Amino acid sequence: NKQVYTFGGGARDDSARSRDKTIVGGKGANLAEMAGIGLPVPPGFTITTEECVRYLAEGGDFSESLKAEVQAALAHIEAAVGKKFGDPADPLLVSVRSGARVSMPGMMDTVLNLGLNDATVEGLATSSGDPRFAWDSYRRFIQMYSDVVLGLDHHLFEDALEIAKEDNGFYADVEMEAPHWQALVREYKGIVESELGRSFPQDPHEQLWGAIRAVFDSWDSDRAKVYRRLNDIPGDWGTAVNVQAMVFGNMGDTSATGVAFTRDPATGEKAYYGEWLVNAQGEDVVAGIRTPQYLTKAARERAGAKPLSMEEAMPAAYAKLAGVFELLEKHYRDMQDIEFTVERGKLWMLQTRSGKRTAKAALKMAVDMVAEGLIDEATAIKRVDPMALDQLLHPTLDPSATRDVLARGLPASPGAASGAIVLDADTAEKRAERGEAVILVRVETSPEDIHGMHAAKGILTARGGMTSHAAVVARGMGRPCVSGASAVSIDMASRTLKIGQRELKEGDIITLDGANGDVMAGKVPTIEPELVGDFGTLMAWADRHRRMKVRTNAETPDDCRMARQFGAEGIGLCRTEHMFFDATRISAVRQMILAEDEAGRRAALAKLLPEQRADFQAIFAVMAGLPVTIRLLDPPLHEFLPHSEADFTELSEAIGIGVDTLKRRAGELHEFNPMLGHRGCRLGITFPEIYEMQARAIFEAACAVAAESGDAPVPEVMIPLVATRKELTILKALVDRTAEAVFAEQGRRIDYLVGTMIELPRAALMAGEIAEDATFFSFGTNDLTQTTLGVSRDDAARFLTPYVEQGIYPRDPFVSLDIEGVGQLVELAAERGRQTRGDLKLGICGEHGGDPASIAFCEKVGLDYVSASPYRVPIARLAAAQAAL
Ligand code: ADP
Ligand code: MG
Ligand code: MG
Repeated sequence: NKQVYTFGGGARDDSARSRDKTIVGGKGANLAEMAGIGLPVPPGFTITTEECVRYLAEGGDFSESLKAEVQAALAHIEAAVGKKFGDPADPLLVSVRSGARVSMPGMMDTVLNLGLNDATVEGLATSSGDPRFAWDSYRRFIQMYSDVVLGLDHHLFEDALEIAKEDNGFYADVEMEAPHWQALVREYKGIVESELGRSFPQDPHEQLWGAIRAVFDSWDSDRAKVYRRLNDIPGDWGTAVNVQAMVFGNMGDTSATGVAFTRDPATGEKAYYGEWLVNAQGEDVVAGIRTPQYLTKAARERAGAKPLSMEEAMPAAYAKLAGVFELLEKHYRDMQDIEFTVERGKLWMLQTRSGKRTAKAALKMAVDMVAEGLIDEATAIKRVDPMALDQLLHPTLDPSATRDVLARGLPASPGAASGAIVLDADTAEKRAERGEAVILVRVETSPEDIHGMHAAKGILTARGGMTSHAAVVARGMGRPCVSGASAVSIDMASRTLKIGQRELKEGDIITLDGANGDVMAGKVPTIEPELVGDFGTLMAWADRHRRMKVRTNAETPDDCRMARQFGAEGIGLCRTEHMFFDATRISAVRQMILAEDEAGRRAALAKLLPEQRADFQAIFAVMAGLPVTIRLLDPPLHEFLPHSEADFTELSEAIGIGVDTLKRRAGELHEFNPMLGHRGCRLGITFPEIYEMQARAIFEAACAVAAESGDAPVPEVMIPLVATRKELTILKALVDRTAEAVFAEQGRRIDYLVGTMIELPRAALMAGEIAEDATFFSFGTNDLTQTTLGVSRDDAARFLTPYVEQGIYPRDPFVSLDIEGVGQLVELAAERGRQTRGDLKLGICGEHGGDPASIAFCEKVGLDYVSASPYRVPIARLAAAQAAL
């Protein structure tokens, strides 16, 4: 197979390999493509990624066949340009550029002006008639080559340049004339000699192969490895090398270089956007040595800037460039990010690729391009990254505001929030009730903090990872959260805290940025999300193209309303225990738990019944006409137990049982491993009166709403943590009995379903049998992951990060479903369940229901719906559409 492909200069290779990004890299493929559609691209060639992979594996010298191919490709450039590489009279110069499959900022820097030496620089000066330009190019070359290929510290050269300018009394690089650059070149060569003990390579071929080798080696540089790890890029792709004839933006005032986007990458507005510099080369625009100028007149005027835009300074070249923008957008049917150079008035294209953009811009461009007829709806749906929508659904910090950053933690839940620091949940609730914006700051959170988390605008914890209690609950509630900020230390006694170096106290204002984990002092202004316009349009298209329904995980009427605004089509998981933690009920709950016998429990449950009924009634009213899956009590009773002396005294006074008795009873209920203990349907089996009360509350509430509105919800009563059919048989009978009793009392019937969560491996295996009693399954993939992997979610933070870093799991299995392993159980249970009951309803709840990769899997397995937390509902709608397309 060929390992070198030429482009430009009239040569045309239309083979699949020559345009395949996996073979020639993104940059190479697009250079060939641009040349192919007749755009002015300096001729060049690309050495394949395959050669890189081979070179890195085998090491050593390059093969004779590769050398021959490169020689032939070089001859192609020479013929096209009409100059010879190394010709002392009129030399061909080239750039050597890396280019992987996807753009990688971690890769090698480009080497420009390669082919210059003490002889060819003179030839360039004569042939161009511009010695200043020739010596400027030579000093640039020595500096770049020494840095990138020879591994010398670039400061050595930058310092020498600064001193040279100072000595001559100059301020800017452009003030340097030929003799100044010539003197600097002498000095640069001296630096190389004293650093390396040998002189700067003069042979252009040695220079070329040195640069090619450096590009290949850069694939395994630390920078590149870090970038790959952060961006999930496989280590075995390799990079291509592009060698291309130089065009010169540094040939005086009719020359220039620049970068541009065909639309504004920040807003999506259909307006050219870019920067350029007169008499400059490549990196000058991004390096910050000189301030780049505006590309268009409109942008310059809007900014009130003086230096002329390219549109004004070089109208002819600009008109050509604008024509290229139009052509490239039509060709690629997407916004392009472009690099160009103008050499003595002539425009040259050096790169194009689909441009990176903000979520807002992605939406606007997708919708606009459909209106322009550039793309169809399906393409527009696929263009927008569902996860990026997250940025749009929460208030975000005003990007123009200044930040006084105190510390950084993990970006656990997106959005931004400002408020007064509070150090416990009760204080959070009290101050929030008075209308104050508060941020709950804890070492870590527990289920008892839920009311405080709900009351707070944001949550900050010193400990815990991305799947810690605080992180999961905050995401579910749509509260911004920064977790694991280890620079936070709290002193509860004095109610003060230290964040980084700063001493703070309760009541001080801080701001959290859940998008990057920043913790800032004071209030930083925010901007509100916008759910209409382009967002609404794209979501409507997504809804037309998806098959799966999207429900939400919600347990408060507020969350339900929010989820409906976001487009939820029902509730997939209503966790009833959250209602039990409410401050006004916890004592009745504790009384129930600590009761010595059934009679005691029933007395306490009688107090809870009207409360639960009211909860369900409020939820059903919001969700009228839609399915609502309610999970009966699931957590170990252990979690509700009183802890402090104060808790016990308070409870003792409330229910008239001695503190000692309560403590003894609490001790009896202590569990070693509550996650695998007395929880889920095991509660229903041992204390049937609890589930009976809950079922009664559900049916009474449903009848009440049906009587009021005539539009009854469809309760789907869900029994958690079932392992055997027998458990379900017993509990289904209990629910049915309760339903019949309520219907008889109320004189009306409503439709309802009884089903189960599949969250234990045994339940998945026995799904065929369990489906005899269940009319629906909801895959509880949080617990199914815990129990299949044997990994406790609450303890996983300590080892999961290294696990993911070493590729043991490709991603955190609590964030993105372990499709290979846990996925098998889901697939198998779905299949076996449907064999028993053809119309078995299948859904997924838990964190994975809002993760696009997991949603794609659910589509493949044929689930009927996914359920996600309210803020994830739009993400799930879009991801479900993408999965269906
Ligand atoms: P990156 O991937 O970091 O953008 P590039 O390979 O695109 O690196 O090179 C960076 C810059 O170098 C280009 O934007 C362009 O300005 C300049 N450059 C690269 N090749 C040439 C060339 N053949 N002629 C003129 N300038 C070039
Ligand atoms: Mg580039
Ligand atoms: Mg569970």
